[in-house]
Amino acid sequence: MLFNDLRKGLTVTIKYLFTHAVTCQYPDERLDVPERGRWLHALTTFDETDAVRCIDCGLCEQVCPSKCIKITPKENEDHTKNPVEYELDLGRCLFCGLCVEVCPELAIEMTDKYELADYDREKFVYTKEQLINNGKTEEG
Ligand code: SF4
Ligand code: SF4
Repeated sequence: MLFNDLRKGLTVTIKYLFTHAVTCQYPDERLDVPERGRWLHALTTFDETDAVRCIDCGLCEQVCPSKCIKITPKENEDHTKNPVEYELDLGRCLFCGLCVEVCPELAIEMTDKYELADYDREKFVYTKEQLINNGKTEEG
């Protein structure tokens, strides 16, 4: 019995002894994240004008279960609306994605940026400008 268990254990050890290690050497190496992963939020802008797509409908603010979105509205001369400020407290966020799903303008998205740790809770409160920058790639 003991010999049998030992033999089984050694078989597994020897089997994996000559295969490549699966350990990811983070941060030098990074795993590919799933396409539909939900991490850092970003506000999207129009390609031509760079203006935010958000029309300040307030749906994301309403649907957010942890109430971590705060929008300060601004009405333009032509009666369209855009947020003068859009704050998102990531420290309270559940990463449920409801804000993205409910948005009629595709104005908010969740990026593949997952390195969100910090020491200061106040740094989790993202402003409109930071949220716009979150959506930009490193190349600009
Ligand atoms: S992902 Fe969910 S919890 Fe986070 S801001 Fe959006 S709706 Fe709120
Ligand atoms: S749901 Fe979309 S368009 Fe409406 S306020 Fe939120 S981000 Fe803006």
